[in-house]
Amino acid sequence: MQSQPQPSSGPNPFCEIGRTHPRDRHRMKPLEGHPGVWECSRHDLFAQVVPKDTAGTLDRGDPFPMHDGADGTVVRHGDDRQGGVLLYYRAQTA
Ligand SMILES: [Zn+2]
Repeated sequence: MQSQPQPSSGPNPFCEIGRTHPRDRHRMKPLEGHPGVWECSRHDLFAQVVPKDTAGTLDRGDPFPMHDGADGTVVRHGDDRQGGVLLYYRAQTA
């Protein structure tokens, strides 16, 4: 078994798609090699906890640097978490 993710990551969050489509509720999975980052491979969606101050400056569609250094886009805010706010994002599409 792998070691647990960082304490701040908490339980796996629901996928953002599932939040808006209750019949398709499913949880995201920790992203291998990136502690504190979750992914939904079905929807190409990612999430991580960001400080509240940072979350307050971000809106849907804003650029967001991804865990791997690529350009991402904010999808929406999620639940409050220990240490900040869950932020959903996806890779930027040209
Ligand atoms: Zn999903």
